Order: sequence, then C-alpha cells, then structure tokens
Amino acid sequence: MSVTDNINAIRKALPQGVELCAVSKFHPVEKLQEAYDNGQRIFGESREQEVKQKYETLPKDIEWHFIGHLQTNKVKYIAPFISMIESVDSERLLDEIQKQAAKNGRTIDILLELHVAQEETKSGWMPGEVLDVMRSTILAERWPNVRLRGVMGMASITDDETQIAREFQSLEEAYRDLLTLLSPQGLTDATFNVKSWGMSHDWHVAVRNGSTEVRIGTDIFGEREY
Ligand SMILES: *Cc1c(COP(=O)(O)O)cnc(C)c1O
Repeated sequence: MSVTDNINAIRKALPQGVELCAVSKFHPVEKLQEAYDNGQRIFGESREQEVKQKYETLPKDIEWHFIGHLQTNKVKYIAPFISMIESVDSERLLDEIQKQAAKNGRTIDILLELHVAQEETKSGWMPGEVLDVMRSTILAERWPNVRLRGVMGMASITDDETQIAREFQSLEEAYRDLLTLLSPQGLTDATFNVKSWGMSHDWHVAVRNGSTEVRIGTDIFGEREY
C-alpha cells in the first residue's frame, strides 16, 4: 500500500470531526510530499532540527505539530513557524514558549500532555498536577502569547483494549476538568477543543473514546528507520 492508499483508507474510517495528524518523524520529505499531494496538511514531528529542515523544504501551508519531548533550550528553533506544540509537560516549558512566542510576535497553540499510561517512561503531567498549576495561574497574565487548545496523551502499550479505553477516558475526564476549571478565565470549548489521542495501534479505540485528533505514523508511512 502506498502512502496515498493508507491515508485514504484512514480518512475513510475516521468519524466526522476527527483530524488526522500524519506523524512523519524519521521519514524522508518525498513521503511527506506524497501525503501533501493527497491533501494532507497536518504533520507531526518530534525533533527540532528535523521539523525545521522539513519546514524549510516543504510547502508553507503545512501545519507542523511538535509531538516529541521538547527541551526548553530548543523552543527557539521551532517558535517562528510551529503551528502547535502538543507535548507541553511543564510550567518551565510554558514559560519558555511564552517568551519565544512573544519574541516572534506570535501566539502559539499548545496542548497539555497528560500522563495516564501505566509505563513509568511516558512523559506528561499527572492530571491532578496540571489542575493544581492551572488553578493558581492567571493565563492571560502569565502566558498571553500561548493559546491552550486542549489535551494530548498516550495509552499504555498493550493489547488490552479495555485498559486502553480506560486510559483514554481518563484523558477525557481531565480535559473536562480543565475546561470547567478555566471557564471563569474565559476558556471555552470553541477554542479548547483538541483531544489528541490515538496512534497506529490504538486509534480505533481512541475515536470511540472522545479523540478529536489521531496521530498516526506507521499506518501511513510504514516502519521508521532510525
Ligand atoms: C511517534 C509518535 C506517534 C505515531 O506513532 P505510530 O505508532 O507510528 O502511529 C504518535 N504520537 C507520538 C507522541 C509519537 O511520538
């Protein structure tokens, strides 16, 4: 199956209103171009240098989403052009995104990455932790150039679909709690409306459990060559 066939098959299977982020990390620009020629505009990347190079090479109407672990000292490389940073997992990172967004005269969309999986290694805030931070923060004062767009997360790597579904439901709950908590600050589901969960092995479960954006790499581009 070609990249085009894969994308068409996934698009057909996705319910209305679920966006597809094509995760193109480690894949050559030719494959991204094929996806682009087939109408794909949102691409997910996880390394600063790589996304910057691809941004410079490929058409400018692509929306680049950063989905990997982001060190604060690397924010400056992607701040001029990134459409969304999905992997925001600390206050320090938010402060730095604010600084770099302001420097570039931009507002940067972000998702709060939450940790709901069993694995120790998965990054992200614990849901309670992010609520505590947001409870004591005035968004418009501290992060005026950052727009909170929603929540991102990953389920455990397991074949147990019940467990995966439960973890996605935890993300959904955290999303709702954040929306409620921040509504007095003017946050509404008109803009805080991105629920990014579901990857190649679990996107079918994700779309049955509240996801509005799936991040799919392998099922589109094949195995990555590291
Ligand atoms: C690599 C990656 C994906 C895509 O994974 P596939 O299994 O190839 O679909 C999605 N989300 C994040 C955060 C990733 O790092």
